[in-house]
Amino acid sequence: MPELILKPGKERSLFRRHPWIFEGSVARLNGRARPGDTVDVIDADGRRLARAAWSPKSQIRARVWSFDPDAIIDDAFFKRRVAEAVARRQAMPQLAGQDGMRLIHGESDGLPGVIADRYGDTICLQLTAAGPDKWRNAIVGALVKATEVFGVVRIYERSDSDVRGLEGLEPVTGWAYGEAPESSLSIDENGVRLGVDVVGGHKTGFYLDQRDNRLLTRDLAAGKRVLNCFCYTGGFSLQALAGSAAHVLSIDSSGPALAGARANLAMNPQLDPARAEWQEADVFEALRVFRKEERRFDLIILDPPKFAPSAAHADRAARAYKDINLLAFRLLNPGGYLLTYSCSGGIGLELFQKIVAGAAVDAGRDARILRRLSAGPDHPVALHFPEGEYLKGLLVQAD
Ligand code: SAH
Repeated sequence: MPELILKPGKERSLFRRHPWIFEGSVARLNGRARPGDTVDVIDADGRRLARAAWSPKSQIRARVWSFDPDAIIDDAFFKRRVAEAVARRQAMPQLAGQDGMRLIHGESDGLPGVIADRYGDTICLQLTAAGPDKWRNAIVGALVKATEVFGVVRIYERSDSDVRGLEGLEPVTGWAYGEAPESSLSIDENGVRLGVDVVGGHKTGFYLDQRDNRLLTRDLAAGKRVLNCFCYTGGFSLQALAGSAAHVLSIDSSGPALAGARANLAMNPQLDPARAEWQEADVFEALRVFRKEERRFDLIILDPPKFAPSAAHADRAARAYKDINLLAFRLLNPGGYLLTYSCSGGIGLELFQKIVAGAAVDAGRDARILRRLSAGPDHPVALHFPEGEYLKGLLVQAD
């Protein structure tokens, strides 16, 4: 087996079980390895520490499959890891009754570069690194087997995320198992039916990570005038309607996303369409217009796209977060709630809270945090992999 030799001192992160080995930690590779091949990870003193997948083009030069230096990385390995990840979800009482859930959350499930989301009888699989690409067939086979209990009959591969470019990998999309469904896919999220477009939607088709936070919105919404910014297909909007909001104005810059949102509302005859208003606009501009018009809301949701994919973008991203949060505070009625999120890996919770605090000060509002929010339990964060905690949110109430 090819050997990845670490520079002196670079074994420390591995002792903390962090699965990434950066370019700058690698002294050399003994032997030949193609992208995705398994390599032995050996420190400068010759100690064998782990087995990892080789990514020659990426700054993350290798991702650890196992910290057991004798682990055999083969089809059976993936069968076990996938089965364990699925079994963990099955055992989570918080997920009982859900038919939309993340089954594999990459590093935090011991499978770096693998994302698998279940939407009813369909799985959408996303592979983002050379290692999982090499083991694609094993992973697909393992998923088919492990999800028989859920009645899964097809897997769509949606390996087209930008990060594949950093690995030198081409996008791969298509049905990896089974055939395209005859009717469109949807899930039941806490009593609301939501369509999911695994082929053309964002990411794997839907933002499952906000499930619990959408439910919180429902609990807060009764009688409120709600503004849902960056609404995508209306997940938060529909839960607000389900919670008897007086009116819900939802904004997104994407026409197809809004078309999906309207279709979702139509699938839920229990919700009153007269209380819903959809606007195709840039949120930054729309909020400024609302301010001039002196419009006010009781509950504002800010769930923007990733402004800072990495720490390198943190400064510009911080300004963008500050800007929208400042505008939101100015549009909030006294006692109003702000549900504000960041899914940027490059912005930590502490920094995000500082940004929101700064926005409140600049808006001349006193406000307090009622709850800190994160993704649901199907997006676990391994203790040794804090990067897994990309989504953070605050429920804030302004005076
Ligand atoms: N809250 C959604 C997910 C939001 S994803 C949910 O629960 O499903 C972020 C959304 O922001 C995307 O739909 C994208 O189209 C939209 N978006 C990105 N930049 C925008 C902008 N400047 N103004 C309005 N919408 C924007």
